[in-house]
Amino acid sequence: MMATADAPKGCTVDLTGQVALVTGASRGIGKAIAIKLASCGATVVGVARSLDALSSTLEAIRATGGAAEGYACDVSNSADVKTLVDLVEAKFTKIHVLVNNAGVTKDGLMLRMEDDSWDNVINTNLKGTFLFCRAVGTVMMRGRYGRIINIASISGLVGNPGQANYSASKAGVIGFTRTIAKELGSRNITVNAVAPGFIITDMTDILPDKIKAEVKERIPARRLGNPEDIADLVAYLAGPGASYITGQAIAVDGGMTC
Ligand code: NDP
Repeated sequence: MMATADAPKGCTVDLTGQVALVTGASRGIGKAIAIKLASCGATVVGVARSLDALSSTLEAIRATGGAAEGYACDVSNSADVKTLVDLVEAKFTKIHVLVNNAGVTKDGLMLRMEDDSWDNVINTNLKGTFLFCRAVGTVMMRGRYGRIINIASISGLVGNPGQANYSASKAGVIGFTRTIAKELGSRNITVNAVAPGFIITDMTDILPDKIKAEVKERIPARRLGNPEDIADLVAYLAGPGASYITGQAIAVDGGMTC
């Protein structure tokens, strides 16, 4: 890793010379994370199901002089994840930062939930996180350095009616994060989870304004979150100042769960 003394302009975290792989980088929180990490000097490898969907993220990074590449991959497909990580390792040799952000919701009450809704959410949110951690973790072990940040949710901390599948997937991500932090800690690899509250993205945009107004009333900070609120913490956890933080699940929710 070629870290320099001066952090790039506009970012207090210096990731110069590092490679950061971000899943679900085509929009929302993942796009903000990709742009933030690139602004800190990292070369970003963005992943989504299609290359077209990634173009606006890649253009935004390149427009400010950053480096970014896009790869199409379904995070729930074991063989595709392995092939992708092999390609990235062959090209860059090392992967310093992994952000497992890709996620979906398929909300509905548990008693009426179809198997497909359960499988799709668990396979994308939980299995996808496992597949990338396993593949990239092997690369990080070889490099004797790594920062893994898994995007969970406060629904995995406190539960949320209508989201049994989603809550289970995110609670799973948190348990998984704590366990692999213990497995990888001695290899200079930290693993943390970030649990966003209510963040304004396509995922939450589908909710009626009435619900959004009600949620806002329950947030001590009295505002909904922005993707950048999450990206700032992810950049910190990826940077040198967070070397002694591992196995944690940190809520970024304006105080919703306090
Ligand atoms: P969006 O729906 O805006 O974006 C989801 C991202 O995940 C897209 O880039 C999408 O890419 C990607 N994705 C979905 N499925 C797959 C897949 N199978 N393979 C590869 N990529 C996939 O969601 P948000 O930005 O809101 O959410 C990002 C993360 O934050 C998720 O894990 C979510 O659970 C979590 N979160 C969000 C909250 C919120 O309030 N918004 C609150 C708590 C947690 P594409 O469709 O282009 O393939």
